[in-house]
Amino acid sequence: MKNLKLAARTTDARTLIPVGDITLGRDFVVMAGPCSVESEAQTLAAARAVKAAGADLLRGGAFKPRTSPYAFQGLGLEGLKILARAREATGLPIVTEVLDPRDVSWVAEFADILQIGTRNMQNFALLKEVGKASRPVLLKRGMYSTLEEWLNCAEYILSEGNPNVILCERGIRTFETYTRNTLDLSAVPAIKELTHLPIVVDPTHSTGRLSLIGPMSLAAVAAGADGLLIEVHPNPAEALCDADQALTPEMFRDLMARLRSLRAYLEPSTRPDGSPGRGIEETP
Ligand code: PEP
Ligand code: MN
Repeated sequence: MKNLKLAARTTDARTLIPVGDITLGRDFVVMAGPCSVESEAQTLAAARAVKAAGADLLRGGAFKPRTSPYAFQGLGLEGLKILARAREATGLPIVTEVLDPRDVSWVAEFADILQIGTRNMQNFALLKEVGKASRPVLLKRGMYSTLEEWLNCAEYILSEGNPNVILCERGIRTFETYTRNTLDLSAVPAIKELTHLPIVVDPTHSTGRLSLIGPMSLAAVAAGADGLLIEVHPNPAEALCDADQALTPEMFRDLMARLRSLRAYLEPSTRPDGSPGRGIEETP
């Protein structure tokens, strides 16, 4: 991976990205919320529920990349305003997707983290534009992409001057059809060998199955992920997008409790410098 002038790991120092009260790359971070912003009531209910369960950031799409042009495409500007109100109400910073290079500068006025979705991972015009933005970027892995291709896309953002890139493993397409995608958990330790950038795992889009989200979230923690991105909807049956894979607030609360137990088991102590230890690579 000779082309990775900025993304390659050359020392043990890791990129730390402060967002609100937390620091990605140091703290374990949970981003949770609905697939899409549907209304103020739905978004506020989701935001309050995930906050109460201990999430650190609110996720929600105002621009949705849908397979069909006739499917709900998101509320756009109105959705961003709703997210901003949810941030005001809960204090949770927001992560939201941007689809079009022309929208980056004004979406960045609302978002705390700009998300690049799997379908746009290699949209180089978009990558260059978010590379010029003053917000951290959550770069999802392309569904057909190798780790090298993914890291080269991170390099596009870094080379434009934005050092704050968070990678997100969200599953890749394989011959398996039982799951929506195949979660490549080996990407977590592999990415940590290759780069200093933080990596989070999306157990929702990678599995597409409610029953698998919990086990894969726990496995991601054990693999050393820096955080999780999980879809939660106050009433999944009525969700306009990804209804079958959204956790209810109760399911999310239970999962957060299990995650806390696992993390306490894996990190019985803090590091010598007083910062919290993370993942099994830290366990003596
Ligand atoms: C999402 O997070 O809402 C999303 C559309 O995910 P992906 O780009 O991974 O499919
Ligand atoms: Mn979704």
